Amino acid sequence: MRLVNASLPDGGGRDIEIAGGRITALLPASAKPPSADDIDLRGALVLPPLVDGHIHLDKTLLGLPWVPNQAAGNQVTDRIEAERRVRAARTVPESVTGANLVRQVLASGTLHMRSHVDIDNQLGLRNLHEILKVREQFRGTATIQIVAFPQSGILRSPGTADLLDAAIAEGADLLGGLDPVGIDGDLDGHLDAIFGIAERRGVGLDLHLHDAGESGIVQIRAIAERTRATGLPGKVTVSHAFALGSVSTDLAARTADLLAETGIAIMSHGPGSAAMPPLKLLREHGVTVFGGSDNIRDAWSPFGNGDMLERAMMIGYRANFRHDAELAFAFDMVTAAAARVLGLAPYGIAVGGPADFVVVEAATLAEAVAARPRRKLVIKAGRPIARDGALVF
Ligand SMILES: [Zn+2]
Repeated sequence: MRLVNASLPDGGGRDIEIAGGRITALLPASAKPPSADDIDLRGALVLPPLVDGHIHLDKTLLGLPWVPNQAAGNQVTDRIEAERRVRAARTVPESVTGANLVRQVLASGTLHMRSHVDIDNQLGLRNLHEILKVREQFRGTATIQIVAFPQSGILRSPGTADLLDAAIAEGADLLGGLDPVGIDGDLDGHLDAIFGIAERRGVGLDLHLHDAGESGIVQIRAIAERTRATGLPGKVTVSHAFALGSVSTDLAARTADLLAETGIAIMSHGPGSAAMPPLKLLREHGVTVFGGSDNIRDAWSPFGNGDMLERAMMIGYRANFRHDAELAFAFDMVTAAAARVLGLAPYGIAVGGPADFVVVEAATLAEAVAARPRRKLVIKAGRPIARDGALVF
């Protein structure tokens, strides 16, 4: 089959030939009329699939009756407590709400995601088991990478380290972490636990780090030193990293050099009120920066819908991006950069690569980010899976 009269982000009009779920040729748009098997895109823009580098499939309440936010204050610990209350009251399993969210993100063109899954000494591996079911349900359509995430800390939730280790044995892909100082109050103790398991199991790490200021920078430096020492360069992410946006440019730049040298990526979702890492500075220093939704309609946030074009817009809005090249950078954060971090290869619109596409009415990448147009078509391995924002499989 062919996608004919497609516009690609480089500005060219192409016919895209597809066989066996892969792109077999990219040809100049021809005058040859489409056959019955072909799809005529009439000049619409064809994008690579969107990638959500940070989502919480087990936390979402999507599809349930509205649950008001119950956090008593604005600290991470307030939200952890609020989530316990919400979780105790829920009767619908996380595999159901998680699947609701996967269907929603597929319809918006996200085919790949990294989901953190809560693990602590009360939950055990229950949420992991629920999200493993979701991964199985969407196997072949969505890539769901799972991070074993110690949402309640490790040292303050005794037994969690063993559970994290068991989670990897049962199918989680990476280890998470959470504010070693702000939550556990023990930088070395927290990092000893997760780097120890990561090294033994040969998996990567993706830590949530909300701790700001110099304390956050000290923690990033410690993570970098351990990344180097344990042979994990290229396999570690720091999510949020608000600290990089709350210290001097000089200190942020020196820290960026260390991140680049140790291959540590930074995830930002365009935080509402917290300090935003200096995205352009990081990229100029060679750091991979990528995007994710983070919380979507859960005990942490009432907002979010999993639309990564909208997320790119929010990141750009928070970063004060205006020029087309800056909007293209925001787009890169939710596509190619996130794909690199997730280890997706091959990825992108190229001969031999997967025939995965998102089709929108826009002239350029910048317009797609600014306007967040409805997804006309989402294609996985040459097969349409969503049209006009609704799933068709
Ligand atoms: Zn998160």
